[in-house]
Amino acid sequence: MGTLFVISGPSGVGKGTLVKLLLEEDSSLALSVSCTTRQPRAGEREGKEYFFLSKEEFLRRRDENGFLEWDEHFGNFYGTPKPFVLEMLKERSVILEIDVRGAMQVREALKGSGISPVLIMIAPPNEETLIDRLAGRASESEEELKTRLDRARYELSKSVDYDYLLVNDELDAAKNRLKDIIETEKSKRRL
Ligand code: ADP
Ligand code: 5GP
Repeated sequence: MGTLFVISGPSGVGKGTLVKLLLEEDSSLALSVSCTTRQPRAGEREGKEYFFLSKEEFLRRRDENGFLEWDEHFGNFYGTPKPFVLEMLKERSVILEIDVRGAMQVREALKGSGISPVLIMIAPPNEETLIDRLAGRASESEEELKTRLDRARYELSKSVDYDYLLVNDELDAAKNRLKDIIETEKSKRRL
């Protein structure tokens, strides 16, 4: 039985970068694939980036308690498929990269199931660094940057509900600390 890791943090903090490095180095880790009702973008493959569902199918699964968590973004539904994650957990440890609201839903959904997820918040060393990373990555307008920053402050204020706070300062060092957390939590569950 693997361990379930939930990784959150503001947009642009480096979650995707850290998770990609971890997956490259540790083949016992797997990343969950979400379901969505949005149309696939060019190059996206079924079961790789997402499982693409019709709205009817998504709502049916939701009503049958088929998601560990779900949310609506930009008019489309997104959710973490419960059977998919539980099946993967039999063999490997699984990472969910989801926001604060989703993380709280997952913790709630698994209460009493015998699975205790490990919640890890990734934080920037400071706000200026987050702004630089956001600005360096994409072409957000001033207005979008401000919205993201407000959202980032909100997300980081929820760190108290997390098991770990990991500051993504120097990439390699942060990746190694994340690996340590993962190894520690895996071994706790082997005892
Ligand atoms: P997220 O998935 O949290 O939205 P990304 O992984 O896309 O963030 O990272 C945002 C940007 O910051 C990318 O350009 C990435 O290369 C850069 N980045 C991530 N971690 C670091 C780091 N420790 N130091 C410098 N740049 C970083
Ligand atoms: P996109 O359509 O750009 O791939 O994703 C849009 C938004 O949906 C992003 O903010 C992304 O984090 C969020 N999202 C993707 N998968 C899930 C999921 O499984 N659950 C929740 N709650 N949000 C998700």
